[in-house]
Amino acid sequence: MRLESMSTVIPAITLNNGAEMPFVGLGTWRAEAGHVIEAVKLAITEGYRHIDAAYVYQNEEEVGAGIHAVIEQGHVEREELFIVSKLWCTFHLPSLVRRACEKTLSNLKLDYLDLYLMHFPMGVKAGDDLFPLDEHEQVIPDGSSFLDTWEAMEELVDAGLVKAIGVSNFNKHQIEALLNKPGLKYKPALNQIECHPFLTQEKLINYCKSKGISVTAYSPLGSPDRPWAFSDEPSLLEEAKVKEIAKKYKKTAAQVLIRFHIQRNVTVIAKSVTPHRIKQNLQVFDFALNEEDMKCLLSLNRNWRGFPMLWASKHTDYPLNTEY
Ligand code: NDP
Repeated sequence: MRLESMSTVIPAITLNNGAEMPFVGLGTWRAEAGHVIEAVKLAITEGYRHIDAAYVYQNEEEVGAGIHAVIEQGHVEREELFIVSKLWCTFHLPSLVRRACEKTLSNLKLDYLDLYLMHFPMGVKAGDDLFPLDEHEQVIPDGSSFLDTWEAMEELVDAGLVKAIGVSNFNKHQIEALLNKPGLKYKPALNQIECHPFLTQEKLINYCKSKGISVTAYSPLGSPDRPWAFSDEPSLLEEAKVKEIAKKYKKTAAQVLIRFHIQRNVTVIAKSVTPHRIKQNLQVFDFALNEEDMKCLLSLNRNWRGFPMLWASKHTDYPLNTEY
């Protein structure tokens, strides 16, 4: 029997397959195995219904354990959740795609995913090494085309393993190539990209929207714990304007940074394993930033990336060699 949840209903966007995707999700990159089970349990108990996972985060089993614990406790039913995971680059060869998806499903102990994303456009040499590098510290391509990978992902929808498919870290030209692919069966439902006031992505978001493709913003807080961060890089959470706006609304900088996306009709996934932050990051539906403050946040754009993906900068499908 299902227990009555104390949580509020999280507003959602409608994807091009008709599915509802909650605006705010819990990110799980660098959420250590020992912490992420509790983080996922708390998040769902608090009202999160959208969880962002990926094979390459190497914690899908713990994310799945957290999901199952709350389902078993009766807090939520599977159908109420929106679970996202991602196909890693070493599985782009079409013959590997289904097995990769099945592995993710078995890690998460789920029958289906709500959304499966191609994590990056770049296919990388298959094998146990998730980041096979050459002597120049560049990933070794597998020679695949993301158009063929996409076809294999379309078969996952037909097989009932995933409800929707999408992409991540794709630029406009790569999306265009997919949309123009002869025999395209399913348009991407969504493009998951880095986005925040230092990288506002106006052109790419507008392009995606014009094609009926939704957008999720990753690293909305600027990914302060990314391992390659330099101390002299800008900090979104410490940015004076962001803090000033937060003070005005009696909210935290993180809440302003999350709310920013909701008002652009963009879904957003902040990662936390800290209980009070997990709760705080969902308390973003009881205020609205005015037009002036939205403009101010947009004006902070400096096309700064926490994820320059330098490990793939020589790959033919590297997405950042173009304006957007
Ligand atoms: P975020 O911008 O979400 O920042 C996460 C960091 O911020 C953590 O150190 C977290 O600490 C801290 N934090 C969380 N909430 C608060 C708060 N309220 N106040 C202060 N600090 C806070 O970075 P991510 O790069 O993790 O991005 C979010 C998610 O997006 C990822 O987890 C992943 O799911 C996805 N992603 C997808 C990518 C892709 O290629 N498709 C690439 C990168 C991310 P703590 O956990 O200790 O509380």
